[in-house]
Amino acid sequence: MSFYDEIIKYDLDSFRHLVDNASDKDIERALTKDENLDVKDFAALISDRARVRYLKHMAQKSMMLTRRRFGRAVSMYVPLYLTNLCTNKCTYCGFSANNKFKRTVLNSEQIQQECEAIKELGYDNILLVSGEAQRRAGVDYFAKVLPIVKNYASYLQMEVQPLETDEYALLKELGLDSVSVYQETYHQECYKQHHLAGKKADYRYRLETPDRLGMAGIDKIGIGALLGLYDWKVDCCAVALHILYLREHYWKTRLSVSFPRLRPATGGFEPQYPMTDAQTVQLICAWRIFDPQLDLTISTRESASFRDMVVPLGITAMSAQSSTEPGGYTHKGQELEQWSINDDRSVSEVVAALHINGLEAVFHDASTSYFKAL
Ligand code: SF4
Repeated sequence: MSFYDEIIKYDLDSFRHLVDNASDKDIERALTKDENLDVKDFAALISDRARVRYLKHMAQKSMMLTRRRFGRAVSMYVPLYLTNLCTNKCTYCGFSANNKFKRTVLNSEQIQQECEAIKELGYDNILLVSGEAQRRAGVDYFAKVLPIVKNYASYLQMEVQPLETDEYALLKELGLDSVSVYQETYHQECYKQHHLAGKKADYRYRLETPDRLGMAGIDKIGIGALLGLYDWKVDCCAVALHILYLREHYWKTRLSVSFPRLRPATGGFEPQYPMTDAQTVQLICAWRIFDPQLDLTISTRESASFRDMVVPLGITAMSAQSSTEPGGYTHKGQELEQWSINDDRSVSEVVAALHINGLEAVFHDASTSYFKAL
């Protein structure tokens, strides 16, 4: 039994109907519930009707729930790109195997240099990112990388190709705390259209990855959809369903959700289902009301002004002064970036902006240590 067996019971497009037909009564019921919100409640919160008539109320409740659970702490993390090598063909990504550019896999010495540059920035929470290249950057490679990076970070996250349960268990022994694996889209037909070749074309294997993470006892699992690939309302209802499933089956595991909006990438990709700023604000509030314990993460894909506006609403983790190219902290500008950065402020500028909003940047995992920041 896995989440795959659960999701195939649904016609995902019926979620759109649930969202479009949400009434005032549905929205008000979702807003007055303190716990145990279901997918129907979540659908009501992301409806156009909720945005037009209840957004202020949603924002107030979202802020209140966030302060109550996380205090004023925002956890600062930084991505460290290990390789831009990738054997998959994803239509929306600069690292896709069909894009011709120089590929790199960082060696131990280069990783150490990157870690030293990152440490200079003040970070203690590192997210290791890679393309999917099982032979040159598979579990043996990660098993060598983790002990190096662990010398520089007390909290270690990964966003790499899906692995097996025993491989996650091995990496946990080496200090791995958190793994993010985004389904990109939960809609199988759309998934097929955007994942043309490579192991990532296997929808089911990717969808079952959080199950393997839960069984391996990883502390925190990050899930989400790449907003813009398919109708974001349908995909986010599927994410909500996934959260309920993971809460039920792996109750010791913490969960985080990210909501990256698609940007144009190398290869000429343009998002088919763009999402407005107002819809993204609404979505952040809806996630917080749906599950007050969720970590909500926002990256430098979003602009400085947008991040400053939404962080107080419910965000618990963010990055700053990030590079999305391997070796980018020591030799900036030499390789291709996976996606373009829209907030290029320094760490100190972002920390100052948080301060103005009454928030405090913490350079390790805020969910485990927010009490220290109060
Ligand atoms: S999204 Fe990931 S798997 Fe797909 S091409 Fe980019 S790096 Fe490779």
